[in-house]
Amino acid sequence: MKELASQKRSGWEIYKDEAGRSAMRALADGYMNFLSRAKTERETVAAAMEQLEAAGFRAGFEGGRGFVHLHGKALFAARRGRRSLAEGLRLISAHTDSPRLDLKQHPLIEQVGVGQAKTHYYGGLRKYQWFARPLALHGVVVKAGGEALPICLGEGQGEPVFTIADLLPHLAHDDAKKTLADAFEAEKLNIILGHEPALAEEGQEAPKEAVKARILELLHERYGICEDDLISAEIEAVPAGEARYVGLDRGIVGGYGQDDRICVYTALRALLDADDPEYTSCVIFWDKEEIGSEGSTGASSRFFEYCVQDMASAWEPQTPFRRIMMHTKALSGDVHAAVDPDWQDRHEMKNSAFFGSGIAFCKFTGSRGKYGANDAHPEYLGWLRGVLDARGIPWQMAELGKVDVGGGGTVALFLAAYGMDVVDAGPALLGMHSPFELSSVPDIWSAKLAYQAFFEAG
Ligand SMILES: [Zn+2]
Repeated sequence: MKELASQKRSGWEIYKDEAGRSAMRALADGYMNFLSRAKTERETVAAAMEQLEAAGFRAGFEGGRGFVHLHGKALFAARRGRRSLAEGLRLISAHTDSPRLDLKQHPLIEQVGVGQAKTHYYGGLRKYQWFARPLALHGVVVKAGGEALPICLGEGQGEPVFTIADLLPHLAHDDAKKTLADAFEAEKLNIILGHEPALAEEGQEAPKEAVKARILELLHERYGICEDDLISAEIEAVPAGEARYVGLDRGIVGGYGQDDRICVYTALRALLDADDPEYTSCVIFWDKEEIGSEGSTGASSRFFEYCVQDMASAWEPQTPFRRIMMHTKALSGDVHAAVDPDWQDRHEMKNSAFFGSGIAFCKFTGSRGKYGANDAHPEYLGWLRGVLDARGIPWQMAELGKVDVGGGGTVALFLAAYGMDVVDAGPALLGMHSPFELSSVPDIWSAKLAYQAFFEAG
């Protein structure tokens, strides 16, 4: 007899044979490589474009496989299907940016013989997590003449790293009584860059702020830049080092920026691996999601619209944009919060995502009465359930925390504005928005399979 009650299924159970396990592992290995090198929005877009080009995609829409990027931070890619664009697209979105510390435009200071960089945090992060850990600097410096110099410091074997020193407990008795919000000041998120003073030249006085002067000398030697060049720069402090497996069984991937590069990577793999898709399959990877999706590379910009219009005029100029949009089915690929073993009280267990139980669908996000949510239509959820169940892919339905405790936003509403069907769908993480986020190996596999099934479904 058919089981009538709803059951959660474990990805470990479903993919327990050797073939399942090794496919799962191979994808996780590839994902970890991607994660280790794609730590900023620009690096994510560059790594994605490399994979697209290797699979025969070309810039523009002259052929049936094309892509367009904006400022190297947002990316749209499309694979032409057999059906007319008038029947809509299959679209997966994800975002390329992650919470981090951005260097200010005048970052360099020297205090008590220590050279530091001042930062302004980007996105929703818990400040205390960024103290006392090795950091790397990634980004770009653009010189006044327009020359762009990519920066990557603190990742190479034997290279020095950077850090924010935390206060010793002996001097932190008063801070221990403060609230978390008061104990860690944003203006104390200053990254140590150096300690050695520049030497005075023969017969001259030692330079003022000699440590800062030495840092400037070293930056000049390496990149040919001066302090003013940092004004037109985007340098991001991110956790140094590679993504790692976590646990004796290597069942978990640990690394920085999995929100939302896990969806970027799995959606991209799904787009490349999909077998002869009937509908035109697209991915849109936006920047700026963590700071409200504003800005020309964010989801509230017109970039996506322009890309689809260019694609349609190359492939099917007679089809109006609105017709394509109204028939499009989309997944807003973003991560979810997995039930935290130590903070189970923050979740409502019947409607939460569990680590290892597959990709999580979220009918609505928002907070305090679904405010600000895209609330997906049940007709669409019914269709999606059918697609995944037909292939035995594990998936789960979840909300972000208890009502009035949790909540959050994604880019789903920006897609919904076009009239397309859209729902949030992505793996659930532990430690989301921390410098070391955790994902479940079977969930990465489930997300890739689910995205691929979505592209391939008739
Ligand atoms: Zn996200």
